[in-house]
Amino acid sequence: MSGAASSIPQANPGAGYRALQAEIDAAVARVLQSGWYILGQEVRAFESEFAGWLGTAAAVGCGNGTDALAIALRALGLGPGMSVVTVSHTAVATVAAIEMVGATPVLIDIEPDYYTMDPRELAEVLMHPPTGAPPIRAVIPVHLYGQPAAMPEIMAACRRHGVPVIEDCAQAHGATLGGARVGTLADIATFSFYPTKNLGALGDGGMLATHDAQLGAEIAALRQYGWKTHYMSDAVGVNSRLDELQAAILRVKLAHLNTQNARRRAIAAAYDEALRGKSLIPAVRAGAEHVFHLYVLRSQERSALQARLREGGIGTGIHYATPVHLQPAYRDRLPLGPAGCRATEAAANQVLSLPMYPELTEAQVSHICDVLRAI
Ligand SMILES: *Cc1c(COP(=O)(O)O)cnc(C)c1O
Repeated sequence: MSGAASSIPQANPGAGYRALQAEIDAAVARVLQSGWYILGQEVRAFESEFAGWLGTAAAVGCGNGTDALAIALRALGLGPGMSVVTVSHTAVATVAAIEMVGATPVLIDIEPDYYTMDPRELAEVLMHPPTGAPPIRAVIPVHLYGQPAAMPEIMAACRRHGVPVIEDCAQAHGATLGGARVGTLADIATFSFYPTKNLGALGDGGMLATHDAQLGAEIAALRQYGWKTHYMSDAVGVNSRLDELQAAILRVKLAHLNTQNARRRAIAAAYDEALRGKSLIPAVRAGAEHVFHLYVLRSQERSALQARLREGGIGTGIHYATPVHLQPAYRDRLPLGPAGCRATEAAANQVLSLPMYPELTEAQVSHICDVLRAI
């Protein structure tokens, strides 16, 4: 959270709006005049543009990124009496979605350098599930901070056990691994358009994507009461629709996403340069293109560092200060992997997020770099 005195906030969705204000205002006016506000031509156009940009057969809009995960789980038949493996070092949404469908989250540890699911521990829990946990029927790796998880290893382990994989891409729109976009590497991918995400709406929004057009059609039905035709539920669904206003805004922003991700990478490179030799710099996985949803430093003297930055008028954030398995709602009741989430707990005590959004000016970036160099 950025302090009130900070002149450069850690995140700034208002700047994201103002940078594209004329285009966004025109899109909003178009929708308001259209007389059609839910699941209409803007949503259809955005879904097809998003699928084209990502490279999947189907993309289906929904209410938010948490619902996208829950709908993906339902589409794969997940429910009570089944476990889903994910990480504790994530937005609580990933774990909440698993419980929304009645399944049991099994939380495993991260690779300390990359903050994403440890594929060796995953292979271990698939072989030897935690005692008392229901059988593992799905796995959700999270591409945290904009960094791809170790997908080849994760997919190999899951394929050996016939377990489907959902990529949580809420923080990684446009990231690639081995030249392929995240969101194209598993069975279903989910995205969030929460305002601060790399592709952010001006409200809530989410998306599911898959290479399987048939599965895409089932997902499209699930988001609206299980309807394939109006007023006829073929399956038990939910109401989680993307609205026309957000879709029209997201169409504007999608056209700028690749450029904005390049700008995020340029800002990250400037921070890296300013921090050279200080061992605080985030590592990028070999073969990956990181899209820096967040630029996350690591320091054993986090509070002092945070205070120094605050004095320089620089806002910071902590993502995430308390791992999911230690939060009051989840503490002591979720099965953990054999590593006991020790790397997760260590990271939670040391991570610090610097300001990161494409609208940071050159002057702001160089001011932040000056303060970093002086540390
Ligand atoms: C933001 C986020 C979500 C949830 O998205 P909402 O649109 O806020 O529901 C899920 N997973 C991760 C990793 C996120 O960062």
